[in-house]
Amino acid sequence: MTTTTATPAAPTASATDAVVRVEHVSRTYGSGTGAVHALRDVSFTVEPGELVALVGRSGSGKTTLLNVVGGLDRPDEGRVVVDGREVSTLDERGLVDLRRDVVSFVFQTFGLVPVLSAAENVGVPLRLRKLPTKDREDRVRLLLDLVGLGPHALQRPGELSGGQQQRVAIARSLANSPRLLVADEPTGQLDTETGTAVMALIRAVVEAEGMTAIVSTHDPLMVSLADRVLHIADGQLIEG
Ligand code: ADP
Ligand code: MG
Repeated sequence: MTTTTATPAAPTASATDAVVRVEHVSRTYGSGTGAVHALRDVSFTVEPGELVALVGRSGSGKTTLLNVVGGLDRPDEGRVVVDGREVSTLDERGLVDLRRDVVSFVFQTFGLVPVLSAAENVGVPLRLRKLPTKDREDRVRLLLDLVGLGPHALQRPGELSGGQQQRVAIARSLANSPRLLVADEPTGQLDTETGTAVMALIRAVVEAEGMTAIVSTHDPLMVSLADRVLHIADGQLIEG
C-alpha cells in the first residue's frame, strides 16, 4: 500500500486481494420456454494459493462457470474479477491479454496439437509471446522435466498415453506462469490411477509455482487434494 499512487483499479481491489471474485453471476442459454439457466446468482472468491475443487453432476454448470471465470464466456448478469481485472467487462483485446497473461486452461480432452511434438506443444504459448528461441527451449525443457516427461519431448501426442498427454497439457498451461489455472475435469478421461497422479501433479505445481487453481471434477480423490470444495447443482452453489 502506498499513498503516492491512486489507480482507478484501487476501489474494486480494496475489499480483499482475492485472485478470483465472482459476484452474483448468472448465465442463461437461449430464451423463452427453451431457456437454460446454467448459472444462477453464483458468488464466491478464491484466495491466492488456493486449490479449489468444483464439484457437481453433469449439466450442473461447472463448464459454464469455469468459462465465465476464464473469459471464454460472458455472464448475463453479475461481475467477475480475476487478478484485479474485471473480466465481465473486458473487450476482445482485454480477453486475449487475460488468457495470455493471467489465466490458463486445462481441458478434459487435453487440446494438444497432433502434428507437434510434446516439446513443441509446450512451446506454443512461449512462441505467442515471441520469447527468444534459446529461452523458449530452456523453459520447455524445465516444464517437461517438472511433469516428468523430459524423455518424451520429441514424441507426438498420438505416441503418448492419455496421462502423458494431460501432463503435456499441464506443462503447456504453466508455460507463461499464469496467476490462475482453470482445469475442467482434467482427469475425466483418465483411469483412476493416472487421474490421481495428474491431480497430485496439479497440486504440486500449484504449490511449486505459487499459483491459484480451480479444478472441476467428479473424482473423490481429487476433491481430497483440494483446499476447499465448491458444490454446484442446477447452476447454484450449495453449502456442503
Ligand atoms: P457441466 O460442465 O457441469 O456438465 P455445463 O456448464 O456444461 O455443465 O452445462 C450447464 C447447463 O447449460 C446444462 O443444462 C447444459 O445443457 C447447458 N448448456 C451448456 N452449454 C450450452 C450451450 N452452448 N447452449 C445451450 N445450453 C448449454
Ligand atoms: Mg462440463
